[in-house]
Amino acid sequence: MGGLLRDRIRDVPDYPKPGVVFKDITPLLADPVAFTALTDAFARRCADLGVTKVLGLEARGFILAAPVAVRAGVGFVPARKAGKLPGAILSQAYDLEYGSAEIQVHADSLAAGDRVLVIDDVLATGGTAAASVELVRRAGARLAGVSVLLELGFLAGRERLTGALDGAPLDAV
Ligand code: IMP
Repeated sequence: MGGLLRDRIRDVPDYPKPGVVFKDITPLLADPVAFTALTDAFARRCADLGVTKVLGLEARGFILAAPVAVRAGVGFVPARKAGKLPGAILSQAYDLEYGSAEIQVHADSLAAGDRVLVIDDVLATGGTAAASVELVRRAGARLAGVSVLLELGFLAGRERLTGALDGAPLDAV
């Protein structure tokens, strides 16, 4: 990641709980030059990987992936928290530090010919990304890769994801 992007991610100590340093991307989103540079970087990954659809994770992944879809000329598919999508869904549960969560996609939003890039802001423990990858596979589509703005290396998300990626690239732009 270039300095332009790095400089616009703000560390917020003790959020959402004591001892955690939250990476706040809102300064980056508020800067049109930085946001455009980020969108372009993700869009280049789409071109390089022959992507047909980007999967954005609720909620910050929506903000990042939607302009990428427009820029790259590919489809946008939302992966939503449980209970938000009206149609037939595929659902994937995953573990959080305390408890569990579930993300869902419309069952018909991905097809066999699709090559999908999963986009999110931060890769932390990798649980969210792993669940997304699983949904892509269960929908019958091919995983082209996982791209994030920021990888928190000390949480070893990359290691957790390695098996699920099955050779597809994981990169922090
Ligand atoms: P994981 O499942 O532990 O990898 O957590 C990743 C998910 O939590 C992503 O959807 C992120 O948006 C969110 N997340 C975790 N830590 C941060 C952070 O420091 N800043 C912003 N989002 C975060």
